Amino acid sequence: MAIESNLDQEPSCLIVGSGIAGLMAARELNRQGIQVIVLEKARGVGGRMATRRFGGAVYDHGTQYFAPSSAWFQSRIAEWIDEGVAREWFRVRAYEMDTRYLSSARYCGSPAMTSIPKVIASGMNVYTGEKVARIYAEGECWHAVTEKGSQFSARSCILTPPVPQTLDLLAASEITLEGATHDALTDLVYEPCITLMVTCDSKPSLPENGVLEFERGNLRRIMDNQRKGVSPDVPALTIHATGDFSAAHFNDSDEQVAHLLLDEALPMLRCDAESWQVHRWRYSQVLTPHPAPYLRLHEHPPLAVAGDAFGVNGVEGAARSGMEAANMLLRLL
Ligand SMILES: Cc1cc2nc3c(=O)[nH]c(=O)nc-3n(C[C@H](O)[C@H](O)[C@H](O)COP(=O)(O)OP(=O)(O)OC[C@H]3O[C@@H](n4cnc5c(N)ncnc54)[C@H](O)[C@@H]3O)c2cc1C
Repeated sequence: MAIESNLDQEPSCLIVGSGIAGLMAARELNRQGIQVIVLEKARGVGGRMATRRFGGAVYDHGTQYFAPSSAWFQSRIAEWIDEGVAREWFRVRAYEMDTRYLSSARYCGSPAMTSIPKVIASGMNVYTGEKVARIYAEGECWHAVTEKGSQFSARSCILTPPVPQTLDLLAASEITLEGATHDALTDLVYEPCITLMVTCDSKPSLPENGVLEFERGNLRRIMDNQRKGVSPDVPALTIHATGDFSAAHFNDSDEQVAHLLLDEALPMLRCDAESWQVHRWRYSQVLTPHPAPYLRLHEHPPLAVAGDAFGVNGVEGAARSGMEAANMLLRLL
């Protein structure tokens, strides 16, 4: 398949990745009449804003919740609530308030986390199951070749995968970066996160909001998807291991990590596991983001890199980074 999005003279953009950064960039460009093509390697959109189903249960297994630290993100959350795809999940107590955030409210997708990326992506040109293997600039355009052999072209490009994957893509494309940019990108460190999803034989013993956070041990958080409203029919837990545990056990078998995590979690939950699955996030969150909201890698035709590694981390930072990269292109195109 060859998609010459473009249309010789019209401004257009190829976006690699349909996480919240790529989709916010696409939405911003689309609104301004720019033709956008989003290429996503996975079967569905959303990246780390992820939801999975098995055993009759539903799990948010990536991002659990988000909170606004800026009026801009507060307005985006309000829009998502109006559209019926986000809701307040719980409020932290006054003594737990993190001064970065504007309020004590913690929000999630409704009915589940992927509802947000799905609604943003609706009506846009999103090609899922298309892993970009190589990009190259020719004349006025960027061209992307996918592992399936499809080709897409547009007059600008934004790369939004986790930065190590973007660096792999650039290397495969034989695109070399200028020294300071190369060093800034290779210095970014992501924490891995092993995630265990468990269906339970009975309601687990957890606080009413369904969240338990840990400061010690191998568990970072346990979340009850039933109390959260994500898995109405079946009690279902998402267990996130710490970064240290995840790094140490990343290559262990599913059985090994599941048993280690269940041995630690089940005694305090007073329930039994009926079935489970393991997911490994190699790049869950960046430890110290780059201060810029995005980086421009190529002047003409323009190429930028964006995502949660830029600005502030998490969903807010990723969304903001995508939007800022789109605004930069809007000024150029
Ligand atoms: C376990 C876990 C818990 C988290 N908890 C929170 C939390 O509580 N609060 C919070 O704010 N944030 C949290 N985060 C972080 C948050 O999910 C991310 O910061 C945010 O979703 C990143 O969005 P993004 O668009 O930058 O990247 P991603 O969501 O990773 O999107 C990048 C996309 O690019 C695609 N891609 C990669 N390579 C290619 C390629 N070659 N071709 C095509 N597509 C490609 C990927 O499949 C992916 O869909 C958590 C993340 C994880 C994993």
